[in-house]
Amino acid sequence: VWINCLEIIKDIVEWQHFKTWFEPIKPVEIKGNVLVIQVPSQFFYEYLEEHYVNLLAKTLRRVLGKEAQLEYRIMVDSGNHNNKPLTMDIPTHGYKTYSSNEMDFPLIIHNPVKNPFVIPGLKKMQIDPQLNPIYTFENFVEGDSNRVARRAGKTVGEKPGASSFNPLVIYGGVGLGKTHLAQAIGNDVKRLHANKVVLYVSSEKFINQFQDHSRNNAINDFIHFYQLVDVLIIDDVQFFNRAEKSQDAFFAIFNHLHQSGKQLILTSDKPPKDLEGVQERLLSRFRWGLSADLQVPDYETRIEILDRKMKNDGLEMPREVVKYLAYNINSNVRELEGALISLLAQSSLNKREIDLDLAKRVLRNFVKTSSKEITIETIQKMVCEYFDVSYDKLLQKTRKREIVQARQITMYLAKAFTKNSLKTIGEHFGGRDHTTVIHSCQTVKDLMDTDSTFRESVMELQQKVQLAAM
Ligand code: ADP
Ligand code: MG
Repeated sequence: VWINCLEIIKDIVEWQHFKTWFEPIKPVEIKGNVLVIQVPSQFFYEYLEEHYVNLLAKTLRRVLGKEAQLEYRIMVDSGNHNNKPLTMDIPTHGYKTYSSNEMDFPLIIHNPVKNPFVIPGLKKMQIDPQLNPIYTFENFVEGDSNRVARRAGKTVGEKPGASSFNPLVIYGGVGLGKTHLAQAIGNDVKRLHANKVVLYVSSEKFINQFQDHSRNNAINDFIHFYQLVDVLIIDDVQFFNRAEKSQDAFFAIFNHLHQSGKQLILTSDKPPKDLEGVQERLLSRFRWGLSADLQVPDYETRIEILDRKMKNDGLEMPREVVKYLAYNINSNVRELEGALISLLAQSSLNKREIDLDLAKRVLRNFVKTSSKEITIETIQKMVCEYFDVSYDKLLQKTRKREIVQARQITMYLAKAFTKNSLKTIGEHFGGRDHTTVIHSCQTVKDLMDTDSTFRESVMELQQKVQLAAM
């Protein structure tokens, strides 16, 4: 009977699929109008149910008659790493009856079967979780930008699979800490639940692995492997968009794990609803749990992140430099770290202490070239406003100290933020010559070293100009 069925199915199903999903099925017996077949795993059964139930039903009716029924037996793995059966959601005794609504086709699951299905190489295998120990919660600075995601992550780390945050989807732009946070959860699970199997994998790696297994007709091994995991972390799921078949496998794995109370953690560069090319059935499952976003951290949080990094690395640098970096690098955390590292590198290369000057030079490579051209006039207006002096006074030859300083700062900023020559800058200050401008810039630098109030003022103005340029 089964051979007849296979003949029919072979003509309908693509060869590759036939080999994967039908060849491994073993006919066991016929009891009246019930055909009993044996499948290698719970997943296998689910996959057949999901994709081939109609085909099986029709085929079986053709061969066995209208009253035909199908009964599955699922082989149970005898020797996985934890000595737990692989198919935990199947009762060890008795029957589970499934019927397909559409076809009114009762499927009976019978379990277990003595004949064990052992996955080669998986026996007692330890799965390397692929976690980097530096990614911890402790090192992940909390701020308004990440509070919800961070706290949900903590909960998941403490009670994997047991909260309603399943799956936990962490999304946000590049360099905002998705990988760090996802890994921190994994590390926490390992720390708090040593015997749980954790696995971190990028979606690219998942797809590559899947394709390798697919080429070797070993999709089952691939899926079985993933079904061993208690906490599965898949990073950057947006890359699934070019891999239909991998998504099928992931769907099966997702269902199996979720049903077995296992934890799923996914990251994505956009909210799930905006993920293009990802199957709707997957997206709808992503919505079962919690989606939490990571935003660009605010200035205070950026300062704290820098402080944390420096503390971890045993580094110190002047407060003003920390502030300068935190203020100016406002795209993402990775850039912030990049700037810090460049600064350290420059400092050690030039055997020179880190100071504001060095920071500025290094940052030139980081801060995006301003989209708006800043003019000398703009800077003049800003400084006037800041010190509450009139524009005329700024240009006049008054010797009043506040005004002299305001003028010097303006020249200094004009030199730093515009591409004008010293001569041109001088001309904008009532026809002063370039040596005056040089002298002013030097005075500002000197004063910044000696007078902290002065330095704060210059810093603040610098930030304002920078903002205006964005
Ligand atoms: P993504 O995966 O979102 O592109 P990453 O997780 O790789 O970003 O983070 C980029 C860098 O920024 C990493 O070195 C990470 O440790 C760091 N980082 C991100 N957010 C924080 C934070 N809140 N506290 C400390 N470091 C952070
Ligand atoms: Mg990442």
